[in-house]
Amino acid sequence: MAERPIVIYGDPVLREVSEPVDEINQETKDLVSDLIGTLKKASGLGLAAPQIAVLKRVFVVDLSAIDITATLKVFINPEILDTSGEAEFEEGCLSFPGIYQKIIRPARARVRATDRDGKQFEMEATGMAARAILHEYDHLEGKLFIDHMSPMTRTMLKGRLKKLSMAS
Ligand code: ZN
Repeated sequence: MAERPIVIYGDPVLREVSEPVDEINQETKDLVSDLIGTLKKASGLGLAAPQIAVLKRVFVVDLSAIDITATLKVFINPEILDTSGEAEFEEGCLSFPGIYQKIIRPARARVRATDRDGKQFEMEATGMAARAILHEYDHLEGKLFIDHMSPMTRTMLKGRLKKLSMAS
């Protein structure tokens, strides 16, 4: 399990659309294990492959820090099958250190993905799990949480975003 540098906002790789994973080979397993290692080191709730500069459709979510019943989950080639409801909650992103904002997202999501053993699974997520899955899924589409903010919030954050992108 290796730790890789996390890509910070301003790096164009975060705006790219990621490619599907063809097979669960050693390369995929190494990627998953590096994502887990990097996420744990950063004490984050979720991390997507583009955030370590790999344009593959893989992300990991680990809510165990805020929910003792949660376990780390790996999503390879995820599909969002259905979403419903609406919830507003504060959100952060490891590619935007120090920035936390309330974001409106669907309250629940049904997702299908492949796990690291190559087994396909489907799950219904609510609360923080739904939020984390939808946030990480966005990364695979080159979409970022600032895209969900109101124009007013983005204007308010302009200076801090500029600072981040200049440092990256
Ligand atoms: Zn993020």
